Amino acid sequence: MLITVLGSGSSGNATIVSSGKTTILIDAGFSAKTIQKRLQQIHFPLSQINAIIISHEHYDHSKGWKSCAKCFDAPVYMTEGASQLLQSEGKKNSVTIFQTGRQFQIGDFTICPFPVPHDSSDPTAFIIENKKYSIGIATDLGYLPNLVKNYLNKCNMLILESNHDPDMLKNGPYPWPLKQRIMSRLGHLSNDTVRIFISEYIDEKCFYLFLAHLSRQNNSPELALSTSLAALGSNKVTKLLTTHQSNPTEIIEL
Ligand SMILES: [Zn+2]
Ligand SMILES: [Zn+2]
Repeated sequence: MLITVLGSGSSGNATIVSSGKTTILIDAGFSAKTIQKRLQQIHFPLSQINAIIISHEHYDHSKGWKSCAKCFDAPVYMTEGASQLLQSEGKKNSVTIFQTGRQFQIGDFTICPFPVPHDSSDPTAFIIENKKYSIGIATDLGYLPNLVKNYLNKCNMLILESNHDPDMLKNGPYPWPLKQRIMSRLGHLSNDTVRIFISEYIDEKCFYLFLAHLSRQNNSPELALSTSLAALGSNKVTKLLTTHQSNPTEIIEL
């Protein structure tokens, strides 16, 4: 299983999970051209993309979905809520609708979508698994309900939002209503929420944990990493990394 986060943050999100035979793009927050460029940048061995799955309709997760569907000639999966909003105008593309709580199969992978608290229509996170390993992908959620924590703590790899440092956000330049939205239970996860989750739920079966969707204004990779690192305690197995907005991560092999 090969995994790379091609970019993550408020300017765009896209992750690739591949078995070699089956390759899935999760979120199309960049144009097909940018996605191809970033795959080439890290020499990702790609023959084709077999499916595109959209987590929710926000622009930073969906803006390239039509160009990606056309360019990669791949079917697009999204919830009914996302489809209604993304297809409200003009010519309708054909999409496959999935429901949270109902798993489905794409080639070598089982996809288990589950609901997360966020201010969009049907916001979704995913567990993607093959016979041996499972990956959790959860960005854009205001807090971690028990249901979500129980999904994520079984994974061998996690891509989890660590959006902001609460003090930087409070003292930063954003207007108050936007600060309130980000801090709310339908907003984005803070470094501190992730730190507590790691200390209570993450053990040695999680080999890689990517801190994702970092805010450029209200966080820094160093701060996100140091906050979470302390929570790992005696766990020397889990490798902590951050995703980037403008560059792909290294390729992780599970
Ligand atoms: Zn987002
Ligand atoms: Zn969002």
